[in-house]
Amino acid sequence: MDVQFLGGAGEIGRSAVLVDDRLLLDYGMASESPPQYPVGDVDPEAVVVSHGHLDHVGAVPALMGAGDLPPVHWTPPTRDLAVTLAEDTLKLHGSTPRCPFTETDVRRLTQASRTHGYGETFEAAGYEVTLYNAGHIPGSAHVLVDDGETRLLYTGDFHTGRQRLVEATTARPEADAVICESTYSDVTHEARESVEQQFVESIRQTVWQGGTVVVPAFAIGRTQEVMLVCAAHDVDCYLDGLASA
Ligand SMILES: [Zn+2]
Repeated sequence: MDVQFLGGAGEIGRSAVLVDDRLLLDYGMASESPPQYPVGDVDPEAVVVSHGHLDHVGAVPALMGAGDLPPVHWTPPTRDLAVTLAEDTLKLHGSTPRCPFTETDVRRLTQASRTHGYGETFEAAGYEVTLYNAGHIPGSAHVLVDDGETRLLYTGDFHTGRQRLVEATTARPEADAVICESTYSDVTHEARESVEQQFVESIRQTVWQGGTVVVPAFAIGRTQEVMLVCAAHDVDCYLDGLASA
């Protein structure tokens, strides 16, 4: 099994891993100015997407441009999030030459979509592939790729602790090689309960003093998690931006 990183290694954003030049795992976009896309030209036989965040799925519609559509495998929530993100990208960059895809490509993406549940093995580009709950955002998956000799586990982003929005990952499929997300690998997070408590107390104090609290949060996953925290502590909140799509 030959593995190539087209982005995401040593940086955050535009994750893309090419296996044997034919199976593509994720194809993300880094939302810098100008946006950054994975390197090189790819023409994969199939694509598997770990989850619906921009840095893992943002550039997938650009693979729908010419010729046969490669099937795109993912969970149903990841498909829905990917289409929402693609439409948002068109809104932001669609009229500029920087946008690598069009509305037509997004429509073709829905034709190329193949959805799967966790634990259901399917065939992609000649490999047996299985998705497992990664506990990161709704629909997020670890991707296990098996060519009959080698089992490669691509973790994608994952979360082992408790969140209100999704269950923590408990899946530990056996593998010969692991490509592991490592953004927070050397960081010890404070206990979730105390962070939550401090957050709610700071909101209460600000409101009590007559203020208004604005919480900037990533649209997919974080925003919903913050809203669940507020609801659990009887704090009213209002929503705007991409998260309201
Ligand atoms: Zn993510």
